[in-house]
Amino acid sequence: MSITTASSADIEQAAASAADVRARLETNKLAKRLRRDVGQAIGDFNMIGEGDKVMVCLSGGKDSYALLDILLHMREHAPVNFDIVAVNLDQKQPGFPAEVLPNYLKSIGVPYHIETQDTYSIVKRVVPEGKTTCGLCSRLRRGILYRVADELGATRIALGHHRDDILQTLFLNMFFGSKIKAMPPKLVSDDGKHVVIRPLAYCREDDLEAWAAHKRFPIIPCNLCGSQENLQRQNIKAMLQDWDKRFPGRIKNLFRSLGNVVPSHLMDHDLYDFRNIEATGIADPDGDTAFDAPEFPKEATAVEWL
Ligand code: SF4
Repeated sequence: MSITTASSADIEQAAASAADVRARLETNKLAKRLRRDVGQAIGDFNMIGEGDKVMVCLSGGKDSYALLDILLHMREHAPVNFDIVAVNLDQKQPGFPAEVLPNYLKSIGVPYHIETQDTYSIVKRVVPEGKTTCGLCSRLRRGILYRVADELGATRIALGHHRDDILQTLFLNMFFGSKIKAMPPKLVSDDGKHVVIRPLAYCREDDLEAWAAHKRFPIIPCNLCGSQENLQRQNIKAMLQDWDKRFPGRIKNLFRSLGNVVPSHLMDHDLYDFRNIEATGIADPDGDTAFDAPEFPKEATAVEWL
């Protein structure tokens, strides 16, 4: 009887193929999770219907690439027929690589429109040195995108904001605007003429990052205008990331709370008529429970909330 022993090269190869299999499984899980999250958001908010033309706004960042990629996949499997047109606004920021997006869009065979408008020069001319340029820049961009949506006959404007953008916006509004207000997954635009949708509303940013890396999207840097990303948003992002690491489940619960609002337990007189409250004589589980502390899962101890 002969005994053959594996060489170290064989062992290395076996380990490498096991790692390959694991990586493929992880990627499959990621793809399924992202498609499930997008499908669920689209369904929950009735974002896209039969015959819609969805204008996907592409900035060249990871989120909008992922949005387009996932929507294209979903269109093949969706129970409704809808069209997609990708749109990029070239704002003439210095160093913007104008050929990257058209090349990518041609390579995947998707209809697209590049709108070129030099808003960069306008913003530089109008906003005094040292003042933040984002307000005017995004107002101009919004107006242009609405016009383009009209010209293209788009019935939906799809943006690439995700779950973490939505939560950051909630905290920004609470901390600096004294408002409980996040970012809507679906809403009519401020000019009243368009329906804006955010199909990535349920997607985690780290999933989108991993997807962008897997698909090797040709990412365009987002700091070409020279403006720093809002410092307060960065701080809030760091706070949420820290919570996510230290308290698994907290971010998920926070996000779910946005769909679970109890106006009678807040203080907004427009949402609840506190002044004219009278006893009804009918028991109501949502009524005031007097001295009873609210009930939370056992693991949510006082220390955990510090
Ligand atoms: S970061 Fe730059 S491109 Fe983005 S809104 Fe602000 S000024 Fe405009």
